[in-house]
Amino acid sequence: MNSECFETIFEAVIVGAGFGGIGAPIQLKRLGFENFVIVDREADLGGTWHVNRYPGLAVDIPCTAYSYWFEPNPNWSRLFAPGVELKRYAEHVADKYDLRRRMRFNQIVESARWDEDTHVWQVTLAGGQILTTRLLVTATGFLSQPRTPDISGLDSFDGRVMHTAAWDDSYCFAGRRVGLTGTGGERQGRKLGKWWRENRFQVCQVVSVQVQQVRDYFNPSGEATLLRPTSTRNAVREASTFPLRDYTIASCGRAVAAVSAG
Ligand SMILES: Cc1cc2nc3c(=O)[nH]c(=O)nc-3n(C[C@H](O)[C@H](O)[C@H](O)COP(=O)(O)OP(=O)(O)OC[C@H]3O[C@@H](n4cnc5c(N)ncnc54)[C@H](O)[C@@H]3O)c2cc1C
Repeated sequence: MNSECFETIFEAVIVGAGFGGIGAPIQLKRLGFENFVIVDREADLGGTWHVNRYPGLAVDIPCTAYSYWFEPNPNWSRLFAPGVELKRYAEHVADKYDLRRRMRFNQIVESARWDEDTHVWQVTLAGGQILTTRLLVTATGFLSQPRTPDISGLDSFDGRVMHTAAWDDSYCFAGRRVGLTGTGGERQGRKLGKWWRENRFQVCQVVSVQVQQVRDYFNPSGEATLLRPTSTRNAVREASTFPLRDYTIASCGRAVAAVSAG
């Protein structure tokens, strides 16, 4: 071990500060764990909802179900809330349960090795630091890391290639022809609909997707009062049928890439 490497001993190490890496330590605290750390390669918490921020990003199951059971949120602006609200919800939960001071950002876990002799995990971070722990929770998800599809000719394409999980807000799509590969489970048809249409997106997919109607609740006044009563939230969770708006959703895998044809 070089001089920059030093060991820190924890009861638990949680890798990832997304919904999994926020929920798990809250339960560990309830079990009496105090000495734990949450490490994430990103600069902030939220995982999927921190990394993804493309236009129209939203959850695709009702938020009444997409919430921690111990921390229901009465403030969703709509049943299928936008990503920014999911991120805000994650921040709220992390703050309320005092997790932020346990989080270490910009830390990449490179490996984890179980030591048979001492019965501990040796978790190695990029840079060489080793975290030693009896309990290792890998809440690393898989949708916060862009994966560009293996499309023949993509390397020599002279337009812009952009992944939805690495969105460039500064890019101007106006007047460009754009191809979207993969329809994902994120209801592109509805959420991205207006934005994609305005920007003349062409959707390309190999496997046809299942399309079904869903109903979204939207409070145009911006006052999210409808979901406040617990009984209402429970009813919505059970029934998942809500009046006011119909949308078309597409669901299948999630690898999505936007290709600008210049
Ligand atoms: C657009 C979109 C819509 C979605 N909608 C829904 C939905 O409606 N319903 C649903 O159930 N799910 C949905 N999902 C899936 C969503 O990813 C999960 O619901 C959930 O957010 C996953 O949380 P997680 O904590 O497991 O992982 P993530 O949110 O992916 O977080 C993992 C974290 O681990 C970190 N990490 C990974 N590897 C390392 C490493 N080696 N070192 C350090 N840190 C690391 C990452 O930086 C990341 O912050 C959606 C996903 C997307 C992208």
